[in-house]
Amino acid sequence: MNPTPGPTASGARLLDGRAASQELLDALRREVEVGVAAGRPRPGLATVLVGEDPASQVYVRNKRRACEKVGIRTFHLDLPADVGQEGLLRHVRDLDEHPEVHGILVQLPLPKDGGYDENEVLAAISPEKDADGFHPVNQGRLMLGQPGPRPCTPRGVMHLLDRTGEELTGRHAVVVGRSNIVGKPVALMLLERHMTVTVCHSRTRDLAAEVGRADVLVAAVGVPELVKGAWIRPGAVVVDVGINRRPEGGLVGDVEFDAAAERASWITPVPGGVGPMTIAMLLRNTVEAAWGPLAMP
Ligand code: NAD
Repeated sequence: MNPTPGPTASGARLLDGRAASQELLDALRREVEVGVAAGRPRPGLATVLVGEDPASQVYVRNKRRACEKVGIRTFHLDLPADVGQEGLLRHVRDLDEHPEVHGILVQLPLPKDGGYDENEVLAAISPEKDADGFHPVNQGRLMLGQPGPRPCTPRGVMHLLDRTGEELTGRHAVVVGRSNIVGKPVALMLLERHMTVTVCHSRTRDLAAEVGRADVLVAAVGVPELVKGAWIRPGAVVVDVGINRRPEGGLVGDVEFDAAAERASWITPVPGGVGPMTIAMLLRNTVEAAWGPLAMP
């Protein structure tokens, strides 16, 4: 399933996350329609928002809207910033016991001054209802190559890589960033696909040289245009996870897009690359939490 090559100013083909995400959402909507008509329970996602951070409010609203379009039932809890660790845990455990809730998402980060322990909150969700794939048991399953919900952004990265039709086995992947939500899980998923994987981070000595060895580059740093176009190996596939706000407005990735597009074979734009895939994978994880793995690509 190769996407139609989109235009970039130069050689690279655009790896279009908006189109990929829309296709996935359409396919999920059909699956849900058919499954529910056949008597399966309607998948349900619970979202929990603590406090009033405007960016988090937008993220949660977008996730709920996407669910509604696909036919996933949503449950939402808006909790005050001072609900406290114990109060939040009680709410999460109640949702966890709710038979119509198949997936639970606690929007992160939790308010800084509330004394919250995010790890304890994530661990209070049962691994089977962990729509984000952040539960330690599910991170462990990924580590061991066992089935289980995978973190949404890394899963979206893999989906985009598969759309290129490029062979991954035996080739060299370089991941820049080692966070628990993107860098580390994506590195494990690339390894699972038999790539040779290098993980770079803030202490890496010669980032340019490491990046230059990548057949597949995944940048997940959060530093605008840290990765220079001139570092990219000609023909590499470049997946830019970074979402950074420019002081003058607008978004920019972790990779210098125009210069990288002159050398890469495929490249994701920012915005419109990995971002839209994350929500689509959250919805897929929710449907799979309700019904088990789906056969679709
Ligand atoms: P993080 O801050 O948790 O981790 C950043 C990583 O980058 C760290 O491991 C750090 O070692 C590394 N790093 C920092 N400076 C570096 C440098 N100069 N050279 C090499 N490595 C360096 O960030 P995160 O949560 O993994 O997010 C990374 C980026 O991805 C952010 O821009 C974030 O907004 C974006 N993001 C996007 C999505 C999406 O849906 N597209 C999802 C999650 C995160």
